[in-house]
Amino acid sequence: MINYKLLTPGPLTTTDSVKRVMMEDHCTWDDDYKQITQKIRKELLEIAHASEANYTTVLMQGSGSFGVESVLTSVVGADQKLLIIANGAYGERMMSIADHAGLCYVPYRVEYDQIPSAEKVEELLAADNEITHVVMVHSETTSGILNDIAAVAAVAKAAGCTMIVDAMSSFGGVDIPVEELGIDFLVSSANKCIQGVPGFSFIICNRKKLEESEGKARSLSLDLFDQWKTMEKDGKWRFTSPTHTVLAFAQALEEFKEEGGVAARSKRYYENNRLLIRKMKAMGIRTYISEKNQGPIITTFLYPEHHNFSFVEMYEYIKERGYAIYPGKVTDADTFRIGNIGEIYEEDILKLADIFREFFDRMKTKTAVIFDWAGTAVDYGCFAPVKAFAQVFQNAGIEPTMEEIREPMGMLKWDHIKTMLNIPRIHALWVKQYGAEPVDADVDRLYQEFEPTLFGILDQYTQPNPYVLETVQELRERGIVIGSTTGYTDDMMKIVVEGAKAAGYAPDCWFSPDAVGSKGRPYPYMIYKNMEQLGVSSVDELVKVGDTISDIKEGKSAGVFTIGVLEGSSLIGLSKEEYEDLSDEEREQILGEAKAKYEEAGADAVIKDIRGLLEYV
Ligand SMILES: *Cc1c(COP(=O)(O)O)cnc(C)c1O
Repeated sequence: MINYKLLTPGPLTTTDSVKRVMMEDHCTWDDDYKQITQKIRKELLEIAHASEANYTTVLMQGSGSFGVESVLTSVVGADQKLLIIANGAYGERMMSIADHAGLCYVPYRVEYDQIPSAEKVEELLAADNEITHVVMVHSETTSGILNDIAAVAAVAKAAGCTMIVDAMSSFGGVDIPVEELGIDFLVSSANKCIQGVPGFSFIICNRKKLEESEGKARSLSLDLFDQWKTMEKDGKWRFTSPTHTVLAFAQALEEFKEEGGVAARSKRYYENNRLLIRKMKAMGIRTYISEKNQGPIITTFLYPEHHNFSFVEMYEYIKERGYAIYPGKVTDADTFRIGNIGEIYEEDILKLADIFREFFDRMKTKTAVIFDWAGTAVDYGCFAPVKAFAQVFQNAGIEPTMEEIREPMGMLKWDHIKTMLNIPRIHALWVKQYGAEPVDADVDRLYQEFEPTLFGILDQYTQPNPYVLETVQELRERGIVIGSTTGYTDDMMKIVVEGAKAAGYAPDCWFSPDAVGSKGRPYPYMIYKNMEQLGVSSVDELVKVGDTISDIKEGKSAGVFTIGVLEGSSLIGLSKEEYEDLSDEEREQILGEAKAKYEEAGADAVIKDIRGLLEYV
């Protein structure tokens, strides 16, 4: 089940009630059905502000382009000439239609971000009196620009030409007084601003001009006059009609009226469109079309200027969060488009803006990475403390499981021991062994034993993990500085830092809980110490990477982008040999479980090995 809303200008998001009426199979010949067609035709005329005396509506099977093709190939005679005005792909498509049908035409092309000039049209018509028809797009969905049909219609009329308008994506969303403007043929379709589903187009026709077109059509199926002749009789379609689409459209028209007609719909579209543009502008995203010419239907936005930007990634990110956007279609700039027609309301725009904000935040330039130490940068599987904890608890007569030892990993070691003693099973064993609850003095005692044990083995666990050296090198080449935090104390760190340095790993700085009054993880203070030392001005510039749940919590409480690493982690807790001995299936299973734990703790991303980090900086 797909559960996202369409921010594409047709097909668009329809209401459930519109979708529901399509559950019925309707026959096409009875009066019921024919009356539905007639009612649709009549109501479309009303929306167009066109009188029944002078205008009529023809419904035509097929998508919007079929409607445009029907008009152009049916009303322009073999001895007539058409002026095609184009400032986008739909204008170009009309030329393509004309080429296919062998129509005689003159092109007037304008840059995609400019509106055609009525003065220029006037000049062209004056210079070539063979031109009999003028055609243009109202809302060029390619860019979102809204062309001035009133001005062009006025000069076309003055020159005695037939005026044709592709108002596909504007009719119903922008008020068009068809008769007053002198538009002779206006084409739109079911799946645009009336908010129906795809399947047919409709043409508001000047009766007189339509009648004059008899016999001119180059195509049988798209013969506008013939289609009208049949439909005008009693509402029967010439060939099979798209019944389900027609029922949906009739319902959509009801809802259109309920909302308050063109006025209300236009208001909603305009307000949502302008709100979106304001929100995007606040995030530094500019529109391709200037404010003055920007229509209310769809907006073309320029890509953000960031080397990390990927439309596909953004599209997927937004789709996963409930909205489908549209790639750009203009040829001279890198753009994407967002339509705001259909069942889209202010709350959708606000939600969408939040999604964009999150996405762009992720993309923000990072200047520093904070690594954890054991299990992340060195000590594959984080074994040094594990061995020492196991030893200390065994000496106290308690055999902890690997899980019990691993669970609090990443914490300051004293806190770690205390946390282990509070695990119910260990707690119970302790009470049985000593006849009393464990108290802080016991934690002190165990810790006093833990320290020398760990010190005794620590220098064997300072080797950098796979890919750490090359990843750090790459980060530095990108100008990124390296900080670090740990659950070890300063004394322990002296050994680890020295060993790692000898092996080639040396971050620009490190801080242990000793530097922050023993307020280690999940407190964020060690990260802030790093920021201070490294001169990082905002948490937005940081990435924290670690291999334990307390690492993730530290990163999230600091407000930084936080990544969990899987291979070599304490969370997985396997040595390199154990990990490599796993079957593919076992490995997938273990990685999947660890990933879920990171995500549950709030990780912004989970990477397989440390190289994955490079994707996020
Ligand atoms: C949607 C649209 C069309 C028709 O396109 P189809 O894919 O055939 O439905 C034509 N012109 C404009 C301006 C449009 O927005």
